[in-house]
Amino acid sequence: PVQVEGIRKRFGRTEVLAGVDLSVQRGEVVVIMGSSGSGKTTLLRCMNLLEEPDEGTVSICGCVVQCGRRVRGRKHRQQVQLARQRTGMVFQQFNLFPHLTALDNVIEGACHARGLPRVQAVPLGERLLDRVGLAAKRDEHPARLSGGQKQRVAIARALAMEPEVVLFDEPTSALDPELHDEVLSVIRELAADGMTMVIVTHETQFARDVADRVVFMDGGVIVEQSAPEVFFTRPTNVRARSFLRLVE
Ligand code: ATP
Repeated sequence: PVQVEGIRKRFGRTEVLAGVDLSVQRGEVVVIMGSSGSGKTTLLRCMNLLEEPDEGTVSICGCVVQCGRRVRGRKHRQQVQLARQRTGMVFQQFNLFPHLTALDNVIEGACHARGLPRVQAVPLGERLLDRVGLAAKRDEHPARLSGGQKQRVAIARALAMEPEVVLFDEPTSALDPELHDEVLSVIRELAADGMTMVIVTHETQFARDVADRVVFMDGGVIVEQSAPEVFFTRPTNVRARSFLRLVE
């Protein structure tokens, strides 16, 4: 359901994405790996148009957005909005609203962006909190939740948008190691349920377990993509080999 083609993005003089093509099938779990600065986060943010590429095309479930300076207009903005609504995003730093309870954080986007009436949103939010094991925390504010619990609320919030695809940007990197598993096991369950996901992570064991495909980035391009059993045992790219020696 998701396809990006010819994506380029520069910040000032730095070309962060130098022509990326990536297509994700329904139900597929794609893990993106690469060293710091290789463009992983920027690619993820371009996939849901949080960051607009300078060039290229982003298609999400039939909603096609042509990017570039010459194409901006009202229709373009509508397409961007539609494409964004079809993706859910989970950030490193959770990005929860501190003044809202867990439940209200989960349903906020569903009520505002999707226009779901509160009477429908509340049971949806409760179901999703239950799915991430946090039914008992519905009325707590983020300050009273652990990092792992906050991230699970953030996952429930992404799911409340009923997205076609969920994008995860290093979902465990802000957490103490003992909290990684509770977040990773929620993502594993989503994978088992057939959710389409793109996950930036450095967790190699998790990537081996959950990925259908590993995409390795270097210098703003994809230099290798293969099944995890191939990527982790016999990567062909020389940078992928040295990256794996460092992280494993
Ligand atoms: P990390 O693993 O450290 O998160 P990454 O592979 O996700 O790295 P990106 O975050 O995509 O890499 O960043 C790639 C490059 O783009 C970096 O050099 C970064 O400094 C630069 N960059 C990213 N976002 C911006 C921005 N908004 N403005 C200027 N430079 C940026």
